Amino acid sequence: MSQNTDCAYCMKGELVARFGYEICELPASTVYLFKEQSHPGRCIVASKHHVSEMPELSEADQAAFLADIVKTANAIHRVFRPDKLNYGMYGDTGHHLHMHLVPKYRDGFEWGGTFAMDPKLRRLSEEECEALAAKLRPLLAE
Ligand SMILES: [Zn+2]
Repeated sequence: MSQNTDCAYCMKGELVARFGYEICELPASTVYLFKEQSHPGRCIVASKHHVSEMPELSEADQAAFLADIVKTANAIHRVFRPDKLNYGMYGDTGHHLHMHLVPKYRDGFEWGGTFAMDPKLRRLSEEECEALAAKLRPLLAE
């Protein structure tokens, strides 16, 4: 797997800890709780490959990455009961394939619109992150 020493998703550790709390590894990805939880249950599914675009993955890796996204979406639905999940893949400046899974709640924060990348309204402590991660982890291990 290719790696980039400037990339938070490749290097993990303190680079990724600025915004993400690791929940678990899945076959093709690492799942993070997004520490900014204005959208309760918001997660990131980051590919294990340092590539920018889906077509840069093999077909098998594309399928495995999508399967991880679906598994994570299912876990978020079961734990947080959102009315809709929003899915966002941006990375204009990051170049490491990852998807934001952003739960939306009817008439709640940003319902009916595009989610902000980092609303900076509700950043959880490590303990609060672990409490949410602990709810998702068993479902992601199924
Ligand atoms: Zn990377």
